[in-house]
Amino acid sequence: MTKKTTQYDVIIIGAGPAGYSCAIRSAQLGLKTACIDNWRNSQGLTPLGGAHLNAGCVASLTLLESAKLYHSLQQEIQQHGIYADNVRVDLAQMVGRKDQIINKLSHKIGELFTHHKIDHIRARAKLLKNKEIALTPSSPSDADNIPATLTAKHIVLATGSSPIQLSCAKIDNEYIIDSFAALNMAELPKKIAIIGAGVIGLELASIWNRLGSETILLDAQETFLPLPDHQIAREAYRIFTRQGFDLRLGARVIAAKKGPKRVAVEYQDQEGTHTLRVDKLIVASGRKPNTENLAAPEANLLLDETGYVHVDENCRTNLPSVYAIGDLTLLGPMLAHKGIEEGVFVAEQIAGLHSDINYGTIPSVIYTDPEIAWVGQTEQALKAMGIAIKTGSFPFSAIARAQAIGKTDGLVKIITDAETDNILGVHIIGAGASEMIAEAVLAMEYSASSEDLARTIHVHPTLSETLHEAALALKKRTLHLP
Ligand code: NAD
Repeated sequence: MTKKTTQYDVIIIGAGPAGYSCAIRSAQLGLKTACIDNWRNSQGLTPLGGAHLNAGCVASLTLLESAKLYHSLQQEIQQHGIYADNVRVDLAQMVGRKDQIINKLSHKIGELFTHHKIDHIRARAKLLKNKEIALTPSSPSDADNIPATLTAKHIVLATGSSPIQLSCAKIDNEYIIDSFAALNMAELPKKIAIIGAGVIGLELASIWNRLGSETILLDAQETFLPLPDHQIAREAYRIFTRQGFDLRLGARVIAAKKGPKRVAVEYQDQEGTHTLRVDKLIVASGRKPNTENLAAPEANLLLDETGYVHVDENCRTNLPSVYAIGDLTLLGPMLAHKGIEEGVFVAEQIAGLHSDINYGTIPSVIYTDPEIAWVGQTEQALKAMGIAIKTGSFPFSAIARAQAIGKTDGLVKIITDAETDNILGVHIIGAGASEMIAEAVLAMEYSASSEDLARTIHVHPTLSETLHEAALALKKRTLHLP
């Protein structure tokens, strides 16, 4: 709600992680702040948190935790001498629990907005010229409280991204579904195909494969997981195929036809054209920035040819006092925590503080089981740059804690500068990788060497010893392996 005459220092368009963190930091710094968002869920509510919270990552990792529990009861706890009979899944309850968690988290952002006196304006915003914003209320009931236009001294664009649609597989959200619908299925499909074996495809496969669906991933690229270090990607491929993922690389989907009850998916690989029949086809073929209708032509907001907002290294657009953060720009990867940091970074710039952001130490995580996490450069990228490096790796299987919890898959790999010993990259596949990577980020943020990590005392027995041992491996003096 907003009063019609309010003068704002900052208006943020979009209440995802980038937008809400920018709003909170702006308000903490004494700036009069509003955040405009038009998210509306299936119950007609207007939750904060954007796609990341309401339709993406948080939903996905919540369901994955449920799926991991089920899978463990089915296939893993027997090794502990524990037997559970008649374990079954109530999918509606599982999805309902996920929704409750999302609602609770979204409500908490609302409480933070109230605490910081941030106005939440429920409307679709469009940037006009001279920093004017046109508002279309989210519902007729909001119309009385929302002016037709607003303006502010500073505007921050944070409208996020949405799934790329494929013309060969049009979403009907019944048989051919997007990544959001894939987190809200009412029944367990027997057989699923997923277009895209990228981050989202793998996370969704980890859920549905564990719950019992036969899962086939089709990816046009020949290379599996091109972003993390290749050694980690190879290990991931080995583990996931052993878990039952049917990973088909070099497989470009060219058509999807709905039958009465199933979908026929046509794809091409080196051997020709193939047809698969599945109960659901999930499209997870990348995301695009939400810049369509974000600005009127007369606003002159500069976009690049792929639709991303053009920004400088301070997230400033071509328009004075208009910033863009999060998935809208090509500065750094499409990750929630990158958006959160940019939100804070921009709020501090607006408040006149010196602020900085280190794009070189943004960690990435894939919430599979085991998790994959990395920060910094890969061995391949560094070699291509002609930088002399050293590497040290260590398997989880040699760590007491990993044996105790029965999670022995995976390894940690550390890459250092051969001359200075500075850590240039850390890549992990294994249990708890998403938490362990924080230590590597901190080490790199402080320009640590592998010697620093090797001399840092790690609790024994913990999974973090894998990182410690990988640092020792660089010096050829591991303690728990020959
Ligand atoms: P992605 O780019 O990681 O993977 C999409 C894949 O789809 C590509 O490998 C591409 O080759 C394939 N593809 C496209 N068209 C195809 C076709 N016709 N046939 C077969 N394959 C096809 O994209 P994503 O997995 O959708 O993720 C989008 C973004 O969201 C990424 O930047 C990701 O980092 C981010 N994200 C991050 C997290 C996280 O941090 N855990 C979670 C969700 C999303």
